[in-house]
Amino acid sequence: MSDLQSFLVQQREIFTANHDVSRTWARNASAWRGGVPMHWMRDWAAPFPIYVQSAKAATLTDVDGHAYDDFCLGDTPSMFGHARPELAAAIAKQASEGVGFMLPTPLANEVGDLLRARFGMAQWQVATTASDANRAVIRWARAITKRDKILIFDGCYHGMVDDCFLALYEGRPANKKGLIGQVVDQTRTTKVIPFNDLPALSQALAEGDVAAVLAEPVMTNCGMIQPIEGFNERLRDLCTQHGTLLILDETHTLSSGSSGYTGAHDLKPDMFVVGKAIAGGIPAAVWGVTSEIAARMDQAQAKIGPGQSGIGTTLSGNALVMAAIKTMLTEVMTEEGYKHMLRGAAYLVAGLRDVIKRYDLPWSVVHVGARAELIFAPQPPKNAEAMRRHLDHDLLEVFHLYLINKGVLIAPFHNMMLISPQTGFDAIDRLVTAVASFSQELNA
Ligand code: PMP
Repeated sequence: MSDLQSFLVQQREIFTANHDVSRTWARNASAWRGGVPMHWMRDWAAPFPIYVQSAKAATLTDVDGHAYDDFCLGDTPSMFGHARPELAAAIAKQASEGVGFMLPTPLANEVGDLLRARFGMAQWQVATTASDANRAVIRWARAITKRDKILIFDGCYHGMVDDCFLALYEGRPANKKGLIGQVVDQTRTTKVIPFNDLPALSQALAEGDVAAVLAEPVMTNCGMIQPIEGFNERLRDLCTQHGTLLILDETHTLSSGSSGYTGAHDLKPDMFVVGKAIAGGIPAAVWGVTSEIAARMDQAQAKIGPGQSGIGTTLSGNALVMAAIKTMLTEVMTEEGYKHMLRGAAYLVAGLRDVIKRYDLPWSVVHVGARAELIFAPQPPKNAEAMRRHLDHDLLEVFHLYLINKGVLIAPFHNMMLISPQTGFDAIDRLVTAVASFSQELNA
């Protein structure tokens, strides 16, 4: 058995010994496929799921009575803290006044104005998840440009969106293996190129058949990959030059500042998507478009006549969601909250870099605002292929489980750590200390 394997066995034993109650619940979950209501809940490093008792601010308590410093925050829906009292009150009030009408409430107008003021897009729609929102904008982009292709970057994730479930395998695009049940070869309508590759981008767009580029301004789902200097600006220019729409998905990069990475870096997307945290974890996403795109959507719609669109979901934009988004925009996602998040992230990044230096580790740290990523590579890779070369599943698993055993949660799949407005500097110290002791044990 390798050192890493025996380290993992030891960590599993520690976890199992300390989670009797969770283990009992897990044993009694056979009604759920895979033992969980949503299969990602199995993707943590723990041998069985941690059952949550409750969560408040940036602390999560499990049914065995352990308190965890939560840097995962549900992988972003709870980026602004768990159980915010403002949000709980607004949701409770709306729940007592009714939730689903398939009609707007006066609150809806307020929310629309708030979104417009904050993110700058002229017109908005609400979806139930960021996946839904991305599917909607892709469809509209194709409708108004009359082009069938979209372009994505290798290593991206934009949700449960089949059009985006492709990757480069030895340089060739193909449906991702996880796209179970999809019989259509997505390469017919989706181009995939490496992130940060301007010549490839220029060439792909020059063919004149791409309706839209769908991108995160910083890639956050393949470790974290920062754009090279000027990449987002050049992306904008190339899209304009070739009549391609630019869709920015800010579902994760909302961690950059109060109006997202777009606001912080003065980017100019045609379409803008943000989900997850926008309603504080109540299922909702919003997408906005410029007035020019709105006009083109009107033209496309005019051709099919009123009431013929047929595509939507009844739960989207309901009154509960509106109450949640309004509270997030006015009381939770404040400049003051962001100031704390960014200060905390800077403190965390400095702490992690100090550990890397102290233990001479071949690792690096990148962050986009309040979202930090520890990467098991000495230099942060610039595209997904380079990132994959440094993927070490065994190291990842034992690292995550070690942190769990120390009372720290970071996002599964990779090493994402999110700072909420309610994350204390003492919690950050505990995380950094746990990373340091892990490094020490690893080197021992
Ligand atoms: N866009 C991005 C950038 C994401 O990271 C995700 C989820 N991780 C989504 C969209 C999809 O969000 P949801 O799961 O809420 O549909």
